[in-house]
Amino acid sequence: DSTLDVARVRADFPILELQVEGKPLVYLDNAASSQMPQPVIDRLVRYQTRQHANINRGVHYLSETATAEYEAARCKLQRFINAREDREVIFTSGTTDSINLVMHGYGRKFIGAGDEIILTTLEHHSNIVPWQMLAEEKGARIRVVPINDAGELLIDDYEKLFNERTKFVGVMHVSNALGTINPVREMIAFAHARGVPVLVDGAQAAPHMKVDVQELDCDFYAFSGHKMCGPTGIGILYGKAELLERMQPFKGGGDMILSVTFERTTYNSIPHKFEAGTPPIAAAIGLGAAVDYLSNVGINAIAAYEIELLNYATEQILQIPGVRIIGTAAKKTAVLSFEVAGVHPHDVGTLLNQEGVAVRTGHHCVQPVMLRLKVPATTRASFAFYNTMAEVDTFIAGIRTVQKIFI
Ligand code: PMP
Repeated sequence: DSTLDVARVRADFPILELQVEGKPLVYLDNAASSQMPQPVIDRLVRYQTRQHANINRGVHYLSETATAEYEAARCKLQRFINAREDREVIFTSGTTDSINLVMHGYGRKFIGAGDEIILTTLEHHSNIVPWQMLAEEKGARIRVVPINDAGELLIDDYEKLFNERTKFVGVMHVSNALGTINPVREMIAFAHARGVPVLVDGAQAAPHMKVDVQELDCDFYAFSGHKMCGPTGIGILYGKAELLERMQPFKGGGDMILSVTFERTTYNSIPHKFEAGTPPIAAAIGLGAAVDYLSNVGINAIAAYEIELLNYATEQILQIPGVRIIGTAAKKTAVLSFEVAGVHPHDVGTLLNQEGVAVRTGHHCVQPVMLRLKVPATTRASFAFYNTMAEVDTFIAGIRTVQKIFI
């Protein structure tokens, strides 16, 4: 990868020209949803104007075209995460849907009474609640890896949680609230040595660093299109073929079958077994264009530039008295969660909006993290490769303005 030309990149994102409250938009809510570049928008328009039809089974021109483009998008995603085969890439509606698929398809078949599932304190609610539902249904038990005050997993405690009842591990690659990069490769190796499969929630990693599922050796890897310059309503579940083949379907319906009678249904091969009904064809093709875009900019160049943004923003914010960073892991992505003493995060967010700056405030769908770190909520600035150092300055000036108003 070469270095990143941020001015050139920004020209691809029409939304970045918006004014908010009479000020240029400074979009720092990328961990919630990123913005879409013109090539992805153009790809969606081309699909809708020249290629749209339902896929599979069609013998007519448009159906064959749409099917070929949908499958071509699957191959782009396969290459993006270096999966061994394209049938290991399942289109879902997002990370939440991907995790629920694993819970129903793998968990309900292979996890039973008295079995244990290891999760971490850092997990997003979407990697907690499905497993709680399963535990309740089956009489299984959830064990939780603790964190330190910096927001890093305590790996010794992780290792101590394993016993003969351990049947599954779910861990996020990167924390959405704190930015912590977890040592998932080592955690996976440890679990595999004990015969335990691992699901990685990659929602916050796939847009920001090179992900190689073969190198990680994860059993499942879940992520969302809307956080990586793609559309909403589309996501990916990567799964090792031999595991996907042993799993039961999550949703029943058209396309996921080979034959149906009222006596008996036989299921289609993977990935189709897990793609019941008409899938989000346009969104899948849009996500294919998004990973092409990210690859053209260069995922390593993106990662390096975003760390520069993080380091500069961290330096600047530490100059402001009364501001405390929440989440100080040694290995982080460009997520900056913080508290401003004496000001509620909701007020910080509202006043920053008046400066045109978009940040997120609240518990970020990680209430156990907030509980552990003893903060009711934080303000979170999350950066993308199209943000600039000048935008960091606007954001920092905005926090000083907030303090002037409140303190
Ligand atoms: N996991 C993580 C780490 C996330 O950041 C998110 C989105 N905030 C999700 C899961 C859920 O993703 P989605 O809402 O796209 O299903």
